[in-house]
Amino acid sequence: MHAENLIRAAMHRHWGFSNFRPLQREAMLALADGRDAVVVLPTGGGKSLCYQAPAVALGPCLVVSPLISLMQDQVAALNAQGVAAAFINSTLDREEASRIALAWRSGRLNLLYAAPERVLTGSFLAMLRAAPPCFIAIDEAHCISHWGHDFRPEYRRLGGLREQFPTMPIHAYTATATARVREDIANQLALRDPQILVGNFHRPNLHYRVQRRERDIPAQVAAIMSAYEGRSGIVYCITRKRAEQLAESLTKRGFRAIAYHAGMDAADRQRAQQAFTAEEVDAVVATVAFGMGIDRSNVRFVVHAEMPKSIEHYQQETGRAGRDGLPAECVLLYSPADVVKWRQILESDETLDDEVREAQLAKVREMNNFASRLRCRHRSLVEYFGQVWHDTECGNCDVCGGSGPTDGEPHPDALRIAQILISCVLRLKERRGARYTAAIVRGQTERVDPADCGLSTFGLLKDESARNIRRWISELLAQGLLDQSPGQYPVLRCTAAGWEVLRGQRQPHLSRPEKPSAPAASRKRRAEEKAARRARADAGLSAAEQGLFEELRAWRKTTAARLRVAPYVIFHDTALRALAIVRPSTPQALKVVHGIGDRKVRNFGSELLTIIAQYCQQAGLAQDAE
Ligand code: ADP
Ligand code: ZN
Repeated sequence: MHAENLIRAAMHRHWGFSNFRPLQREAMLALADGRDAVVVLPTGGGKSLCYQAPAVALGPCLVVSPLISLMQDQVAALNAQGVAAAFINSTLDREEASRIALAWRSGRLNLLYAAPERVLTGSFLAMLRAAPPCFIAIDEAHCISHWGHDFRPEYRRLGGLREQFPTMPIHAYTATATARVREDIANQLALRDPQILVGNFHRPNLHYRVQRRERDIPAQVAAIMSAYEGRSGIVYCITRKRAEQLAESLTKRGFRAIAYHAGMDAADRQRAQQAFTAEEVDAVVATVAFGMGIDRSNVRFVVHAEMPKSIEHYQQETGRAGRDGLPAECVLLYSPADVVKWRQILESDETLDDEVREAQLAKVREMNNFASRLRCRHRSLVEYFGQVWHDTECGNCDVCGGSGPTDGEPHPDALRIAQILISCVLRLKERRGARYTAAIVRGQTERVDPADCGLSTFGLLKDESARNIRRWISELLAQGLLDQSPGQYPVLRCTAAGWEVLRGQRQPHLSRPEKPSAPAASRKRRAEEKAARRARADAGLSAAEQGLFEELRAWRKTTAARLRVAPYVIFHDTALRALAIVRPSTPQALKVVHGIGDRKVRNFGSELLTIIAQYCQQAGLAQDAE
């Protein structure tokens, strides 16, 4: 009880939080009890507070963290909150590093961040033995596992920490852990009977949508982004080249877009990341390299221009949207071609041993199933991470909301086409893949078995393009009318629902081939979608409150620039929204707002109160609302 009170007091004083997020309390009390733990919370779930607050309340903590940018961001945010934290890494010169080591030894630091390869060096260990932390926190702990999606060899050596510190509590944190990864983490780190805490992966404020990818990707991404003027987001691609091209095309279309990938030099990457944190760009167009450690909570959209290689990646990347709990949107532009692309990438990667490659290919297939099936996205994700889903529908995804990946104009001849395709799959004895099946219905004679040219379905769709046919096949897959075998060369199979189509008992939905220019109807639909998205993004604020919110954001931006910190270090959007709604008139009233601690009131209180008072006077708004 005593420990809990200390922790609560620290949370309140430095963070302005008065409540725990789910499982934070359990994780912190496990630490207080000296127990090891594996803490699995989704991105945005509040993992860092699990070790930061106890580090202030109970005793210093060593944080092992994989990325330099992540350490720097966290340390900057902590310092701004009045918490003594520092990092030691390769960006520091010898003098700075020894100054920090001295601060640690003399007990002046609550948190010390270091990368795994640094932690196990002789000098670092000697420092830790001389001044041991109270506990060790290992961030992004899935990096230790082959079965995870982001294996890092240097993490393997962290197993050595247990030998060095046999009784010190070690807590491993990750956003992604299927049971296998979880076990691996506990084993590799030699945790002693760890408490396993698995959080809720349901993110009800995210709207998930899978859209068929169109040929003109920049136009499609631009259409999504146009609903978010003045807000920003992340666009993910598979390859560096695609990221650069897309950033360029978006810039040509008038967006402030900037590329980010591992092939850029460190300075360029840092510039991109800073531009994003400083809210100077509309979108970062990035490969998977971007995002670990992005603590901007007001990311309003995440678009996947290409399919990520695992559900873990997808969950983690989309999880960067809407961390403030406000509505945000995640759009996956899906094409089955991405599966092929991933297979090629993984097969040509010689650094992978066979076992790891197989594990990753299986993850690509799972991701493809997620994207191509018409099953509630929220439910699919939650169940994937081992949670039970209780609701019937989520009300916030393309499947439950009605328009699935087959959201094109309906094809008037869908039944006939579907029957041809499904019966062709059966005629081919369910032994062939999508490409081959398309070749047969188109009547192609090259590169096919001559015997198949005699099938009754041969050439029945000879006037259609290969592209249309492939699309229809993926639509049939998405509706569960066809199915794909697992394995390296997936073959098409007919499902029970597919048989109903053959018998004319079920109406499939296929899209009509797209016309070169968007017809009026679809333009209207786009406009409606845009308005709906805008409404979601602004949910809950009246027009006057929205105005105040914008004013506070503008203040935050200039203040952040003046202090040379990221805007979120000053306040999160949630705090600004709360200010716009409550409109406090006194420092005491300010403190009631979530996310505003003593130090923030001292530093920014009077500026905020002035802005709010002036705005309210002009707009004729009452202050100190409930
Ligand atoms: P994770 O590392 O799990 O992705 P973070 O630790 O970055 O998540 O936390 C996400 C956001 O939630 C941060 O903005 C953080 O300030 C906020 N947060 C964490 N714990 C609480 C809490 N108990 N009350 C309110 N906000 C919180
Ligand atoms: Zn749903």
